[in-house]
Amino acid sequence: MMRITMIGAGYVGLVSGACFADFGHAVVCVDRDPARLELLELGRMPIYEPGLDELVARNAVQKRLRFSSDLAASVAASDVVFIAVGTPSRRGDGHADLSYVYGAAAEIGRALSGFTIVVTKSTVPVGTGDEVERIIREVNPDADFAVVSNPEFLREGSAIEDFKRPDRVVIGTEDETAKAMMSEVYRPLSLNAAPVYFTSRRTAELTKYAANAFLAMKITFINEIADLCEKLDADVQDVARGIGMDGRIGSKFLHAGPGYGGSCFPKDTLALVKTAQDAESPVRLIETTVSINDQRKRSMARKIVAACGGSVRGKTIAVLGLTFKPNTDDMRDAPSISIIQALQDGGARVVAYDPVGMEQARAVLDGVTFADGIYQAAEGADALAIVTEWNEFRSLDLARLKSRMTSPVMVDLRNVYNKETVTRAGFSYAGVGRPRGS
Ligand code: NAD
Repeated sequence: MMRITMIGAGYVGLVSGACFADFGHAVVCVDRDPARLELLELGRMPIYEPGLDELVARNAVQKRLRFSSDLAASVAASDVVFIAVGTPSRRGDGHADLSYVYGAAAEIGRALSGFTIVVTKSTVPVGTGDEVERIIREVNPDADFAVVSNPEFLREGSAIEDFKRPDRVVIGTEDETAKAMMSEVYRPLSLNAAPVYFTSRRTAELTKYAANAFLAMKITFINEIADLCEKLDADVQDVARGIGMDGRIGSKFLHAGPGYGGSCFPKDTLALVKTAQDAESPVRLIETTVSINDQRKRSMARKIVAACGGSVRGKTIAVLGLTFKPNTDDMRDAPSISIIQALQDGGARVVAYDPVGMEQARAVLDGVTFADGIYQAAEGADALAIVTEWNEFRSLDLARLKSRMTSPVMVDLRNVYNKETVTRAGFSYAGVGRPRGS
């Protein structure tokens, strides 16, 4: 059993902390947001993640998981301290903003007592571990510690499953004691035969960015093939299936759609581009990926405008799905934000519905009317756009929908439906990368 402090109780910190507690470790999740801690103390989750409330409750009752604002006390009593604070894009230049990481490092440094491992779980550029080490040494020259990189690969929406059954765990350190202690932290996973993989610290830091950049590039690749399919009257879904069956390519992340969003891919691709430019080794494939994806979101709005006959001025557009993907409430960099903005720029009134993201959406969307449900959103709409593929949008009552709408137009940016089903119900239909006839 290890004594662990997890700094930052967000999507990554809270899930990782609860899972480590479930492995049998004694975990304290520290956050500096009092409202977040208050909710957690009451057994309420500050974020939406399937299964998290039950996991947290179970481990809190067993007293393996606690919440605290007292970073110093918790760090002093820990064997391992994880930094899982945010690393958003720095305003202005796109580099990762490391102020939260460095702030946490200084606080940790002042509190360390006895040999402690400090682990960056946040996604951080190459060299951040060196700087964390320097900061700790500066504030506490006598501290006995090792700094390790352990990037996190979980996905929101299936975070617990991803954490407990990862494809791999990457641990960046050359310190033998740290290796042994990190192996102990992840021991239950090695029993499940999950590969725990040791590299140098810098290599681990870069591995995370390389993984996200590759996935972003894969999505962008199929999105461009989708555009080509529309011009050539081919079907991107069949192309994706056809190439995905090749084991060298793999079928995942080949779903054409409105462009990637979320709290990781946009900021991490941009940060990698910046790191590479500074290192005088530009990653031009990723530079191009970033630019294609930026343009794609507004081009999806143009697709909706085209489906409305070339103009949305004075029209009402119903938008189903606001979060960047299903099963999360996360609105950070969701494609819906740019799409809705572009529709409003074109003079449309937007009515939106999302199963769990509306609270966060209200904070980032201006001038949008939020509906209580799918059919309320469709009331009087001139077109309906599916922007996020929540399960409840997969079995729409098309007749009921049509009876509510002013004109039956569906733009399916996630290819949830096949054209035949929807047109048979009396709609005009536009998907992404589909042939004209289907
Ligand atoms: P988040 O914004 O949900 O959570 C960060 C938390 O840290 C917040 O609750 C904030 O109050 C707290 N915090 C900040 N500074 C603090 C300090 N000094 N002391 C205590 N608490 C502090 O962020 P997130 O989505 O969990 O992401 C965290 C990191 O993990 C990022 O680097 C991100 O790139 C990476 N990551 C995220 C995901 C994901 O799916 N969200 C997946 C893999 C990696």
